[in-house]
Amino acid sequence: MAERLTSAESPLVKVIGKPGSALAHALRDFLHRSDIPFESVQVTTDEEARAIAGVAHLHDSRLPVCVFADGTRMECPTLRQILEKLGWFKTPSRSEYDLAIYGAGPAGLSAAVYGASEGLRTVLIERWAVGGQSGSTSSIENYLGFPQGIAGAELAERAREQAEKFGAEILLGREGLRAEFMPGSGVGYLADGTRISARASICATGMEYRRLDLPDEERFRGAGVYYGAGASEAALTRGEPVFIVGGGNSAGQAAMHFSPQASEVTLVIHGSSLKETLSKYLVDRIYAAPNVEVLPCTEVVALEGDEELREITLRDRKSGRERKARTRWLFICIGGVPQTRWAVEVGAVRDDAGYIVTGPDLACVPHDHARRWPLDREPYYLETSLPGVFAAGDVRHGSVKRYASAVGEGAMAVIFVHRYLTGG
Ligand SMILES: Cc1cc2nc3c(=O)[nH]c(=O)nc-3n(C[C@H](O)[C@H](O)[C@H](O)COP(=O)(O)OP(=O)(O)OC[C@H]3O[C@@H](n4cnc5c(N)ncnc54)[C@H](O)[C@@H]3O)c2cc1C
Repeated sequence: MAERLTSAESPLVKVIGKPGSALAHALRDFLHRSDIPFESVQVTTDEEARAIAGVAHLHDSRLPVCVFADGTRMECPTLRQILEKLGWFKTPSRSEYDLAIYGAGPAGLSAAVYGASEGLRTVLIERWAVGGQSGSTSSIENYLGFPQGIAGAELAERAREQAEKFGAEILLGREGLRAEFMPGSGVGYLADGTRISARASICATGMEYRRLDLPDEERFRGAGVYYGAGASEAALTRGEPVFIVGGGNSAGQAAMHFSPQASEVTLVIHGSSLKETLSKYLVDRIYAAPNVEVLPCTEVVALEGDEELREITLRDRKSGRERKARTRWLFICIGGVPQTRWAVEVGAVRDDAGYIVTGPDLACVPHDHARRWPLDREPYYLETSLPGVFAAGDVRHGSVKRYASAVGEGAMAVIFVHRYLTGG
């Protein structure tokens, strides 16, 4: 029978798809991160596909179907169509801004709030939804002022509202591809051809989840293999075994989030103990949860399935022994790689791992002579090797990879933007 799971009492959108649909997963992920109440309906037979989704059969290319509260129906919609329907697809209103911010994670959102509230004509460009990495987490428990914790999506949505209240323009579903910087101005080129001109820029593009690099990993992406804490999928795992790879706080949070629904949650970790990598409050909760098991010194080495993931192979890193486990749910939370492709072409200095180098670190990290800091004054603390271009949050070399630090750096970057713009 079709399974219905609702994220709120009055869903704004119904997403009807078959289990293991990568596009249905992407739509759920976007709606979840955007804090939009939705209902997920999984159809499993041709009859259900006809009766509930109004398509010919279960493998009809018109699936997934989205139905909005006002009756609007969209077949196999793109992100842009969804954004347009929500009234969130914006065209830049100005030919030039004071400040362009790339990436709407905590660092970018914070920069947008401070930039716009302090009178800068500010635009914030985000390739997916607001919130960044932690948009997929069910509860951020160490952010100041929220003793009971707060969902990443809720925190991000509040920040989005706040930034817009102060007049920041937010362009969602638009990816910054490359940039050109001249003294006093910069131009960002977005994937859809839009050109953004600004007197100063902040790169807050953060990190993207690291892959396991297994054969078929891409094939099962969104169809059994998920990255991050997977809050949008949690309800769908009811009564089924869930595997999480990773021993950091994000993996621990995910384990605790899945445990009330899943039949059992297995945390697969490289090391011998969680205590080396996880905050104590999470270690205590994980060991107290009856259906959470920790598999130390273990790795996932193979994925198998048909249209969706069915089975994984686990290898004991000490003995080399392998065993198979049946599951449709593998969540990968093993950190990330910085999103700095644009910086290569434009010549901004990066460290060996690809993080953007700023301020005093520019004097310490080796780089070629051509990329030397070009001005008489020293670079500001969060300024990259390109004057007027700043970096904040996880994307920055040496940053503390925490929500609060990203928010702090976003706010701090705006102070340096003011100094740069006033020539101070
Ligand atoms: C599952 C999970 C749970 C976490 N929980 C906690 C927690 O409880 N407490 C805590 O302190 N920290 C937590 N963290 C860490 C915290 O989320 C990060 O440190 C923080 O999100 C970094 O913020 P950021 O803005 O620098 O980058 P990100 O959050 O990575 O955001 C970057 C944004 O830039 C966008 N982007 C990238 N490239 C482009 C481009 N070319 N054009 C446009 N947009 C682009 C991305 O889509 C993304 O939205 C967690 C992380 C994860 C993964």
